[in-house]
Amino acid sequence: MTKNAIVLGAGIVGVSTAIHLQRRGRQVTLIDRKDPGNETSFGNAGLIQREGVAPYGFPQQLGLLLRYALNNRIDAHYHLRTLPSQIAFLARYWWNSNARRHAIITRAYAPLIENSIAEHKDLIEASQAEGLIRKDGWIKIFRTEAKRDQALAEAALWQNEFGVEYDSLTSADIARMEPDMTGDFAGGIHWRDPWSVLDPHALTSAYRRYFESLGGRFVTGDAASLGPFGSGWKIMTAEGPLEAEDAVIALGPWAAPKTPVQLDRAEAVARTIFPLGGRLDPEPWMGARPCTPDMMPVIGKAPRHQGLWFAFGHAHHGLTLGPVTGRVLAELITGETPFIDIAAYSPQRFNP
Ligand SMILES: Cc1cc2nc3c(=O)[nH]c(=O)nc-3n(C[C@H](O)[C@H](O)[C@H](O)COP(=O)(O)OP(=O)(O)OC[C@H]3O[C@@H](n4cnc5c(N)ncnc54)[C@H](O)[C@@H]3O)c2cc1C
Repeated sequence: MTKNAIVLGAGIVGVSTAIHLQRRGRQVTLIDRKDPGNETSFGNAGLIQREGVAPYGFPQQLGLLLRYALNNRIDAHYHLRTLPSQIAFLARYWWNSNARRHAIITRAYAPLIENSIAEHKDLIEASQAEGLIRKDGWIKIFRTEAKRDQALAEAALWQNEFGVEYDSLTSADIARMEPDMTGDFAGGIHWRDPWSVLDPHALTSAYRRYFESLGGRFVTGDAASLGPFGSGWKIMTAEGPLEAEDAVIALGPWAAPKTPVQLDRAEAVARTIFPLGGRLDPEPWMGARPCTPDMMPVIGKAPRHQGLWFAFGHAHHGLTLGPVTGRVLAELITGETPFIDIAAYSPQRFNP
């Protein structure tokens, strides 16, 4: 008899998981309170970050920590009143970001990243979404020689250990490759492997259409109505109650109200470098990045509940890792051995 599965959350992670379960013979219903791909998977930078083998660590140097404490940077912003409730999380994040532990985490994280392009390629071809993809990598530029040299040294290590491909760029290379950019740059890195997605929402929508072509169903509903039912799960949807043996939680990040402080700061700097036109949307898209204290996603069986599975916490790399996450979780749910070792991402690590 065909087993049913519910996937809660129709972002890139949930849609990819739904595809892989449907491919393995489960009858899958994908559920979201909005249309698929309308939250974090809507905007984002659109990079499939094959170079992103090292998760973003918490700063360790005192000088840098003090600069962050001033709370006027583009890359981070905090609300003073919420700090007390986040201290325990931040302390664990900082502890895990120490050079030795960060290197161990990077080695555990790398297999997900290493398979990110191949797993997207599979779904891009199946969903005929090639028109949304560019395969020419991305460029990171530096204003100082010190920052450039530090990044190049790190790139050489990653190339050696994880096969990441890059070119070192001079300021003349940058001027040739990006003639519209103005500014005094010390050089840059061209990461050659990553792909970029012209429209992340369109890609998630293409994957959703492919999922439906396999016989899967999308239904509107609120994940909060999920509850245990017999040996499985039951949820209320716009089309009535639904039961299934397995439920996957792929709900992305849900926390504080939006505060677009960093967007305004980044736009001001970007305008000094690039001839940007006017804003296109009446209200700019804004997403949140769900981080775990050890910088790795949560993929696997819920520690206490039968038939409940987790796929969230992808932080800066959810677009990159959606398809590979979907595949390994579907393999686990259907009793196959996941094609990479996923022990390091297990939810169990937070419940020793
Ligand atoms: C500025 C920015 C740039 C980024 N750039 C990149 C990048 O270049 N490359 C990269 O790999 N990653 C990038 N990311 C990260 C990436 O966008 C996310 O990790 C990824 O989109 C997360 O996907 P998701 O499916 O887990 O979550 P989401 O896309 O948020 O999906 C979760 C879904 O759950 C639904 N949901 C939530 N609560 C309920 C409920 N109660 N009932 C029903 N449905 C519910 C939501 O409606 C949503 O559709 C970026 C993020 C940001 C913020």
